[in-house]
Amino acid sequence: MEDCVFCKIITGKIPSDIVYRDDTVIAFKDIHPVTQVHLLIIPREHIAYLTDLTEKQSSLVGHMILVANKLARQNGIAEKGFRVVINCGEEGGQVVKHLHLHLLGGGRLSEKMG
Ligand code: AMP
Ligand code: ZN
Repeated sequence: MEDCVFCKIITGKIPSDIVYRDDTVIAFKDIHPVTQVHLLIIPREHIAYLTDLTEKQSSLVGHMILVANKLARQNGIAEKGFRVVINCGEEGGQVVKHLHLHLLGGGRLSEKMG
């Protein structure tokens, strides 16, 4: 997708602090972190919304969660706890229209959501 900021990060057209990459996903530091650890895990394939996922892509989200676990361990937040979030659509707070999973942690998070 030509004007997708996350596709540009994948191709290197926009600089980012990439912390993980494999054949299907990459992860990088959020440019405006809201927690001490704030990483984004995204599929290399441009999928705009969570609701665009097809049955064939169901393993992709499982893989994104496993990568989040790995990065949580690497960042020392797996034991104390962390949060993963996927925003979907306008009312869900999704700004970048490329599926992404937020990994948030490093300090106590609010119990209140929404
Ligand atoms: P969302 O509201 O779920 O769409 O979250 C999009 C996230 O992408 C926000 O937390 C932004 O700070 C982050 N973001 C936007 N542009 C960039 C960028 N160029 N590099 C890293 N993170 C970004
Ligand atoms: Zn994209």
